[in-house]
Amino acid sequence: MEPFQLTSSPGRPALLHIDRWECSHPGLSAGFTTRMGGVSEGRYSSLNCALHIQDDIGHVLENRRRISETLNVPFEAWTCGEQVHGRKVAVVQRTDRGKGRAAREDAFQDTDALITNETGIWLTSFYADCVPLYFFDPVRRVVGLAHAGWKGTVLRIAQATLVAMSETYGSEARDVMAAIGPSIGSCCYEVDGNVIERIDECLTELGASEDDRRKAYRPGAQQGKYMLGLQELNRQIMIKAGIMPMHIEICGMCTGCRTDLFFSHRKENGSTGRMASWIGLNL
Ligand SMILES: [Zn+2]
Repeated sequence: MEPFQLTSSPGRPALLHIDRWECSHPGLSAGFTTRMGGVSEGRYSSLNCALHIQDDIGHVLENRRRISETLNVPFEAWTCGEQVHGRKVAVVQRTDRGKGRAAREDAFQDTDALITNETGIWLTSFYADCVPLYFFDPVRRVVGLAHAGWKGTVLRIAQATLVAMSETYGSEARDVMAAIGPSIGSCCYEVDGNVIERIDECLTELGASEDDRRKAYRPGAQQGKYMLGLQELNRQIMIKAGIMPMHIEICGMCTGCRTDLFFSHRKENGSTGRMASWIGLNL
């Protein structure tokens, strides 16, 4: 069954929830926004969540407020990093609550992953095709969120996030639940040989089998082009880092195929809005 389930009502942001997690763990909220149910206009229509593109800031903040209202969390809980396709993980403390919610300047700088064990903090990050990675340790009540494009993936930000959870909060990989959210699929993500060289290095570091390599990418229609599956590569990195395969949920929706539901950087020629991923504990 698709782990990300859509909830929508007229005039409200349409949101995808990781249903099984939320049902099994009271107080946990985790999911992904769509492009529907906001106030942004034109190419950002309508639920653009990101401040770093040329959308009207008032519209973005209204969208974030509407999402908060729909999730029944205060807007003050939104906490964001300034994403740079790196591998830095920030530990979010109570005093950091709300960083980056209304302006980029006070977000965690150069940060693609956030972790916390504080309640009442909503970790968020932003996407148009890149891969949202979610982490939840139900034993120590720790949540984590990481943004992984191909660069963050080969930098193994998934592993870095898990290591930070372990070093900071004592999380053990075997307890950790992970989810890989809506992102561009290998059906739509064509890359050049220079990207595949880096992917190959990463697969070699992982000790990947030939079968694992075939699952991560395949030749494209044109000579020198490849179709890359970032979800699968992140899954392999998570397993190598000690997460149990049965604890990994993978979204089956491709942001490139579903531009009715999602913004897609690739399909919309780099000029589009961003969705938000979120995870938080409210008790
Ligand atoms: Zn696709």
